[in-house]
Amino acid sequence: MFIRQNIAEMSGYVPGFQPQEDGWIKLNTNENPYPPSPKVVEAIRAELVNDGERLRKYPDAACRAGREAAAGLYGYPADWLIMANGSDELLNNLIRACAAEGEEIAYLHPSYSYYATLARVQGARVRTFPVTEDGEIGDFPDRYSGRLLLLTNPNAPLGLSWNVDEVAALAVRCSGLLVVDEAYADFAEQDCLELVRTLPNVVVTRTLSKSYSLAGMRLGLAVARPEIVTALDKIRDHYNLDRLAQVALVAALEDQDYFRDCVARIRAGRERFRQELLQLDYRVLPSGGNYVFASPPDRDGRRLYQGLFDRKILVRYFSDPVLAHGVRISIGTDEEMTWALAAMAEIG
Ligand SMILES: *Cc1c(COP(=O)(O)O)cnc(C)c1O
Repeated sequence: MFIRQNIAEMSGYVPGFQPQEDGWIKLNTNENPYPPSPKVVEAIRAELVNDGERLRKYPDAACRAGREAAAGLYGYPADWLIMANGSDELLNNLIRACAAEGEEIAYLHPSYSYYATLARVQGARVRTFPVTEDGEIGDFPDRYSGRLLLLTNPNAPLGLSWNVDEVAALAVRCSGLLVVDEAYADFAEQDCLELVRTLPNVVVTRTLSKSYSLAGMRLGLAVARPEIVTALDKIRDHYNLDRLAQVALVAALEDQDYFRDCVARIRAGRERFRQELLQLDYRVLPSGGNYVFASPPDRDGRRLYQGLFDRKILVRYFSDPVLAHGVRISIGTDEEMTWALAAMAEIG
C-alpha cells in the first residue's frame, strides 16, 4: 500500500456543484453576483504587457505589495499579515502548524465542513461543539485544551454571528489558537480583527472570494501575530500567489469605493429577500453573510432543493440532520432573487 491509511480511507471534500453550461441561476456557492472592480481587470492586463514577458519570471515570494495593501487597510503592520492562494490554504496550514498527528482540533457543528477534511489529511483528531440556531455553543469546557478551535463567524451555513465580546470570551477559554474564519465578515455588522492585537491566541482569516468577487483568482489572507506569520511562511509553497493573483489582490483592496458599494448592494438584497421569504411563511434566520438559510413551511429542504433544481436554480442542500430542514441560498442580483422568489412561491 503506497498511500497513508487515513488518506486511503477518507472521502474527499465535495465542493458545491459548478455547472459548466449556461442557463443556471447559481446561488449555491456564495459567489458574488457582481464582477470584480474594473481596476482588477486593468491590473491583470497591465501585468500581461509585452506578450506576457513578465510571466517568464517567478512572482514575489513574499507578496510584499499585497501584505502592505492589506496592512494599510486593516491597520496592522505588514509582518502581521500573510497572503494565500485562497483562505482554504491558510486554514490548512494553520492546522498543519498547530496540530501534530493524533492531536486535537475543534470546530462548531454546523459550520464549514472542509475543516474535517483538512484535519483528516493531517491525521489530527476532531472534536465538534454543537451550535444552536440562536448561537448557543453546547458542551464547551471552561478550559478547552485542543490545539486549535475554528470559529466560522458569521457562521456558515446558518448566518448567525458572535460579537467581539463573545469571541474574546471564547478565546480566553482556549489554550490553543482560536482561528476566526471571517470569510463573510465583510457582509456582517462587526468583525474580530481587533482581537488579534489584544489576545495572543487569536488569528483572523479572510477571503477575497466572496466580498471582492474573486473566487476564480484564489486569494485569501490572515491577520496574525508575527511569530505565527513566520511559522505559516515556513509551511506554505514559497510561490503560492502567482503574478496575476498578486496584482489583482492589490487592485481589489485599493478600490474600497467599489467594494463598499458592492457589499452594500448585497446586504440590501439579503434583507429584501429575507423579508419576502418571511411573507411566504418561510423560516429565515437573520444572516451576516451573503446568503440566508431558509426553511420552507414543511421543513423539507430536499424537496425545496429539488423544486428549485428543476427550475434551473441551484442552491445548497445539506443532508446533515441539523440542516436538512432548509437550504442555503446565496444572494445574487435583484433579478436572480426575484426569479428565486417566484419559484419558491410556486414550490411552497
Ligand atoms: C468560502 C469559504 C472559505 C474559502 O475561501 P477561499 O478563499 O475561496 O478558499 C473559507 N471558509 C468559509 C467559511 C467559506 O465559506
